[in-house]
Amino acid sequence: MNMNKKVFVIGIDSATFDIINPLIKKGALPNLELLIKEGVSGKLKSTIPPVTPPAWTSFMTGKNPGKHGVFDFYAPPNLGYQRPILNSKFNKAKTIWKILSENGKKVGIINMPMTYPPEEVNGFIIPGMQYGLDTNSGFSYPKELMHELNKAIGGYKVLYGDMVSLYADIFDNLLKEWREIVKLREKAILYLMERYEWDFFMAVFYSIDVMQHHFWKFYDKSHPLYKHSEYSEIIPEFYKCVDSSVGEILRRLDEDTVVMVVSDHGAGPEHKAFYINKWLAKEGFLTFKPKYISLWKFRLPHIIYKILRRAGVKAIEWTVPISYLPLLWRKIDPREGLRVHELINWNKTKAYSGNHTEQGIYINLKGREPYGIVESGKEYEEIRNSIIEKLRKVEDPKTGERVVSKIYKKEEIYNGPYTYLAPDIFVDMKEGQYLLQKEVYNWGLFNYADKSSGTHRMDGIFIMKGANVKRGEGVDNLNITDIAPTILHVLGVPVPDDMDGKVLTQLFKESFQEANPVRYTKIISEYMTDDKGIYSDEEDEKMRKMLRDLGYMG
Ligand SMILES: [Zn+2]
Repeated sequence: MNMNKKVFVIGIDSATFDIINPLIKKGALPNLELLIKEGVSGKLKSTIPPVTPPAWTSFMTGKNPGKHGVFDFYAPPNLGYQRPILNSKFNKAKTIWKILSENGKKVGIINMPMTYPPEEVNGFIIPGMQYGLDTNSGFSYPKELMHELNKAIGGYKVLYGDMVSLYADIFDNLLKEWREIVKLREKAILYLMERYEWDFFMAVFYSIDVMQHHFWKFYDKSHPLYKHSEYSEIIPEFYKCVDSSVGEILRRLDEDTVVMVVSDHGAGPEHKAFYINKWLAKEGFLTFKPKYISLWKFRLPHIIYKILRRAGVKAIEWTVPISYLPLLWRKIDPREGLRVHELINWNKTKAYSGNHTEQGIYINLKGREPYGIVESGKEYEEIRNSIIEKLRKVEDPKTGERVVSKIYKKEEIYNGPYTYLAPDIFVDMKEGQYLLQKEVYNWGLFNYADKSSGTHRMDGIFIMKGANVKRGEGVDNLNITDIAPTILHVLGVPVPDDMDGKVLTQLFKESFQEANPVRYTKIISEYMTDDKGIYSDEEDEKMRKMLRDLGYMG
């Protein structure tokens, strides 16, 4: 038998060759450099939009979001305009760890986003982000493993964030905590990979995503808000940390193990916000309630905040000025990105935009949205086409440039039973440098981005090395859905024929390809879960705070 025995996948959330390649040239990432030299590597296309939950879910299922139903951090609007946050049970497609378990393979997964609550597998799962509980009670599968790990490495943490960092450019706490988290993560991975038997191991590093959201403007000289400072080396520092952990992992693997390094999406600068709901209102697709008209009420706290910041009160939190305006509290709390949905007159609204992570527009559709008014069929198509036509002409008044690079109708990018729940239009502005934002309190339609200075891109990374893998070759046209079937193939498990991804046979040596033709299994019924896949109200509240702290303010 010529099959490799094991697969180890290192996930680096948000990693991009745009940062890796220059660092490799400087000799700063010796372990990733070695893997690239001795294996195959290339850009990996993410999902549209390139956001963590749909992207990693497509990775773990080999399927497009139309088949697994995860389009964002938040549930689709059939569950309400105030959209609940998703958990792992929202995913309607089978994960590769479930398939591997059913085929008698031992699996170990640590820190993978969208794995809480953990599935029962033949092995273990220590979940990653998108969880609302502490890391003690019932957090892992099996339950006892979390206690064992906490004891063995002296405490385990998934995430850390804080509001002050995000809005006041004071990052000392954030950095201290994340440097600690990176070390804990390495310790936990090394402990588990050495202590337990596995055929498939997946370890995800999340820190780079957080650093790129916060520190891009200090790193990238072409960013409009570029500032050279003590933080200018933070992004490279965290790449180096992860590279060193990669080295520690590689030292513990044998020659029979295929190693993959994968990111769920890439990253790049975030320059400006485009206030899409205000634009939809201006074009007559959206109507605000009368109370929205007294705009100053919504802007006042922001103006006070900015004055205080400019006056040198740096560490001030949003809550300070707002606490003087208790009557307006619920409607204007900017930490909630405004409860925009409460300001919209749904009976007179044909289209709206949800959270910025989606980069999409929903038609207010009868039968899907709680107060949908648009009939499907002709009316839906006419409204959608009219929005698309008008969007193409949108210009940034400061530069006079047209800003929309690409527009997709959802059926052009998705297929499967859940496609009807996706946003109806996806918009790519300036190749990701401008983001749609749902807020309605700013003057004008455009503003400099104030949530984060770096954001996601479609091109993630893929590197693979192993005894039967070709050496030193660059590859292209890889899709994030290709990885799951490729992992199954390497481990000798038949590939379900309803996966969208292809086995990347071309990356293996000819002799391996000849001796190991891809085997498929016919899938007759869809894997379904009867769990709603959303958090309790209390957990949801915690999750929203955490997402805000990470730079995903909803
Ligand atoms: Zn991500």
